[in-house]
This record gives sequence, C-alpha cells and structure tokens, in this order.
Amino acid sequence: MPLAITHMVSSLYLVNAIQKRLLKHQQHYRAIFSSRLLFMAALAGLLPDIDIVYHAAFYMAGVTLPAWLQHGGIFHTPLFALPFLVLGLAFLKYERPRPAVACFIITVGILLHILLDFVLGGGADSGIMWLFPFSQQGWSINILAKSGIPHAASLLDGLVAIFWLAVLETGVGLKRIME
Ligand SMILES: [Zn+2]
Repeated sequence: MPLAITHMVSSLYLVNAIQKRLLKHQQHYRAIFSSRLLFMAALAGLLPDIDIVYHAAFYMAGVTLPAWLQHGGIFHTPLFALPFLVLGLAFLKYERPRPAVACFIITVGILLHILLDFVLGGGADSGIMWLFPFSQQGWSINILAKSGIPHAASLLDGLVAIFWLAVLETGVGLKRIME
C-alpha cells in the first residue's frame, strides 16, 4: 500500500497543478490560493487513512468493527468525498469562494488517495469499493504487490521523501509550488 508521504506529496502536487492552471485563466483566484491551502491539500491526501487510527483505537479497546468501518472501508470510497463536494458547491452558490476551494481541495485529496490505493494497492485487501453503498465489491490493480519488489511501498515512500527533501533543500520547484 502507498504510505503517508506518497499520499501527501502527490496530493500537494496535484492541487498545485490545478491551482497553476486555474490561475493562468482566472487571476481573481490568486487571492484565494495560499501555501496554507497546499498544506491542507497534503493532509487531505492522507485523510482516508483516518480509518487506521480509529480502527487501532477500537481494536485496543476490544471492539470489533464491521468490515465497512475498518481500514479500506467507507472512508476509502467516493462516498466519503461526496459531502465535501456538495458543501463546496453550496459555498460556491452562496459566493463564498474561500471555503468552497477548501472543500474542493479536500474532495480532490480524498479521491486521489483512493485512486492511488486502487492502482498501487492500498486500503482493504479486497480493494476499493467504488460503488459503495450500492455494492461492497472491491477492485484493485495492486501494482506494488504484483511488481514483486520487496518492500515496494516503503521503497516508493522513501524515494518520494528524498525527492521532496531535495525540492525543499535546493528550492527547485519550491517557488513554483508556493506561488
Ligand atoms: Zn489508504
């Protein structure tokens, strides 16, 4: 499964790319986007794995959760992103662009997390329940496990971390990211 740094850095980069594209055509968005929102993008990219945290807490308390509430359950489905999308559209309707953008960033972060878990192999062993709650069928491409590379997820996460540290150290790309 892709690990934390992979999820956070990919979400940050995707949101930054969307931001740059938007700003190219819609300069009035400049006042809305900030490095704080990119920080939020990184956290949103990790948000579905909140199920690891509360699952561990319930496990230690001796409580068994139903499968759809365990890691890879409902928080790893598009249904989890839906309320943020709806809230974002509502804020947009009432001309509140700042909270609308924040909600859209969370939506993007969640969906990217699910997509990465689907492609690389994360969440539940049975895969991502794209059609939840209509179906609990899971799908997964699971590239990391199929690659046969030992510790592939840790290797990928380490490489992403080194890349990110290089960006921070050299400043290459950083200016673009923080613009
Ligand atoms: Zn996950």
